[in-house]
Amino acid sequence: MGGIIIKGYKFIVIITTFLIVLCGIVIFNFNSTPSTATTNEDKDSTDVVEVELNENSIKDQPTLGDEEVSVQIVEFGDFICPACQTWNETVFPMIEEDYIKSGKAKFSFVNVLYHDDSELASLAAEVVHKRDPSSYWKFHDNLFRHIKKEREIDQEGIEELIKKHTDIAIEDLNEDMKKPEFARELELDKKLIKEHGVSPTPSLMINGTLLENPFDYEEIEKAINGHGEGT
Ligand code: CA
Repeated sequence: MGGIIIKGYKFIVIITTFLIVLCGIVIFNFNSTPSTATTNEDKDSTDVVEVELNENSIKDQPTLGDEEVSVQIVEFGDFICPACQTWNETVFPMIEEDYIKSGKAKFSFVNVLYHDDSELASLAAEVVHKRDPSSYWKFHDNLFRHIKKEREIDQEGIEELIKKHTDIAIEDLNEDMKKPEFARELELDKKLIKEHGVSPTPSLMINGTLLENPFDYEEIEKAINGHGEGT
C-alpha cells in the first residue's frame, strides 16, 4: 500500500516537473517570439526610410540648365543598364547642345535601381551630388563610361572615379554612403519611378509626360517644343 503511495507520489513529482518544464518552454517561447519580432520591427523602422514626394522631389535631383526654364526633361536611368549608357553617349549630347546650353530646357536625372550594382553606383552619385555638386555631371558621365568599358562596378572602381573626378575624400565618401540621408535619396527615386509609372530604362519624361521612345530625337524635339515658351 505504502509502495503504491510512494510510486503515486513519484509519478506526481515527475508529472509536475514535466509540466513545469513544459510551461517554462512555452513561456520562454511566448516571450522570446514577440521580443524577436519587436526587435525586427524596430530594426525595420530604422532601415526602411519613409519619404514623401513633394514639388521639390524632382527639382532637388541633379539638374543641368537654368532652373527657371519651364521645359523640364527627366531621365530615369540606371548606371548599369547598357541602353542608358548608349543613350547618355548618343542622345543626351544632342539634347544638351540643342536645348540645355541654349537655355530652352533643364535636365534632371533620377536613379533607377534594376541591377545588382545599381545601388552602389547610384549611392556614390548621390554623395557626389550632395558633397561636390559641381563635379556631379563629370562623375555621372565617367561612371557610365567606366561601367560600359569594365562591364562592372565595385567599391574600388567607385573610389577610383571619385579620386579622379571629384574633390571628395575617400573616407568622407565611405562614411556618407552609410548615412540614412543618402539611402533616403534612393528611396525617393524609387517613389518617383513608381509615381510616374516608369518601366524600361532609360525612360524620358518631358513636362510630366513619358515618351514612347527616348531614342527618337524627333519625338523628343516635338515634346520639348510642344511645351516650350511661345513656340
Ligand atoms: Ca536621386
